[in-house]
Amino acid sequence: MLDLTGKNALVTGIANNRSIAWGIAQQLHQASANLGVTFLPDDKGRYEKKVAELTASLSPSLFLPCDVQNDAQVQAAFQAIGEKWGRLDILIHCLAFAGKEELSGDFSDTSRAGFMRAIEISTYSLSQMTAAAKPLMTDGGSIVTLTYLGGVRVIPNYNVMGIAKAGLEMSVRYLAAEVGPQNIRVNAISSGPIRTLASSAVGGILDMIHHVEQVAPLRRTVTQTEVGNAAAFLCSDLASGITGQVLYVDAGYEIMGM
Ligand code: NAD
Repeated sequence: MLDLTGKNALVTGIANNRSIAWGIAQQLHQASANLGVTFLPDDKGRYEKKVAELTASLSPSLFLPCDVQNDAQVQAAFQAIGEKWGRLDILIHCLAFAGKEELSGDFSDTSRAGFMRAIEISTYSLSQMTAAAKPLMTDGGSIVTLTYLGGVRVIPNYNVMGIAKAGLEMSVRYLAAEVGPQNIRVNAISSGPIRTLASSAVGGILDMIHHVEQVAPLRRTVTQTEVGNAAAFLCSDLASGITGQVLYVDAGYEIMGM
């Protein structure tokens, strides 16, 4: 039984009840972690309301706005963590973005602005948040991010997000080497395709899920709960020797040659 009692965990990337971050937050809560949750603020406060209602059952002790394109907001979020908790043990980086127009058609048609935005939000934000979390992880820590096979192989329509995930996976290795001496571990989970707000922007995602259901050794794709369980494991002392890795939680699809 995983026990994260006494661990302070910040979960980013919850948008709704389909979010992978929601599956992770639930499993961390079940393992008795003390949770903080961030939301992406918008003009009408829709995300704030939705995420607040959804996460109320997990009684997060911190609920913070955090748009990674806003440096001041990221700094304020981590400052609030320092003031309220004093120490951070777990950071879940579960966010990404690319414009819908970049997630179908030819990769070479990706606009400069679209390319930069995808990398900034989906890749740079891991380094940005690790830098902010590092001083608070005074008793070691675990950072987990989410990636996809499209960062290693060509997946139809994943396009610039594949470049972002390749950079993210390499960031995991550089960051793991950097913060390892402080006993902070950095790992990625490569999830199989799941229907979420973000994945629905990728052209042909339902076909991809159907293909995985036909081909993966387990003849299905995975659930948010299964990814959440793997994240809880990586955040626990049971994974104390694991860092700089990409763990596939994909019903085995990655091993197949088709
Ligand atoms: P989701 O839409 O539920 O989550 C994406 C989150 O990113 C949202 O909560 C959104 O608010 C947040 N976000 C976007 N721009 C942001 C910004 N500027 N600042 C802060 N947050 C921002 O979708 P999801 O599928 O749960 O995605 C979570 C992670 O899992 C992503 O990194 C995604 O690439 C990865 N992933 C998803 C799948 C899949 O099939 N769904 C597979 C592998 C990896």
